[in-house]
Amino acid sequence: MTQPTQPIDPRALDLFAFCRAGGEAASEVAARDLPRIIAETAAQAPASAADEVFAYALSGFVEEEEGEPGAPATQRLFVDLTVNGRVWLDCQRCLRVFAQDIATDMCFEVVASEEEADAASMDDDEVDVIVGARRFDLLTLIEDEVLLALPVAPKHDVCPEVHESLVTGADGLAEPEPEEPPEEEKRPSPFAALAGLKTKH
Ligand SMILES: [Zn+2]
Repeated sequence: MTQPTQPIDPRALDLFAFCRAGGEAASEVAARDLPRIIAETAAQAPASAADEVFAYALSGFVEEEEGEPGAPATQRLFVDLTVNGRVWLDCQRCLRVFAQDIATDMCFEVVASEEEADAASMDDDEVDVIVGARRFDLLTLIEDEVLLALPVAPKHDVCPEVHESLVTGADGLAEPEPEEPPEEEKRPSPFAALAGLKTKH
């Protein structure tokens, strides 16, 4: 955070150089530039939903690893990405649109090829592995992270104007109580009818 951030081209970032230089960058991207986020945005969202801004920060670093005796130390490249913003979604409880806050913070190991990525993810499943590039599309990675952060069942923390008495079931699904049929339309249960026969002796 103390290092000054560098201007980067988020569509064509030399991710290897960025990590090796211990790069720091922070910027913003609008939802309109993230088509898969727009696809997830609720149809009833306000027109301004496409203007929602995702703030992101990227920092690169290197970890030296001792090699075999006599062999040079190997460098592992890492990048830390945080994304903050909001996405307009349909609440599954009250069906109204609401702005879901998104806050992600992920660390990725940056490798040079798919083969290395496969090998690295087998070594260590604690760290997500991405394949770097000299012209890396950071916005696609940001989009991936936001999509992963979306709730499976989006809901308001507290739905507006939903009366407590309408909330039924453990999942809080709002459904009006079925109305009791009028008394005269109630059919007696077969057991009640049997009981009635028994007492008629
Ligand atoms: Zn709701």
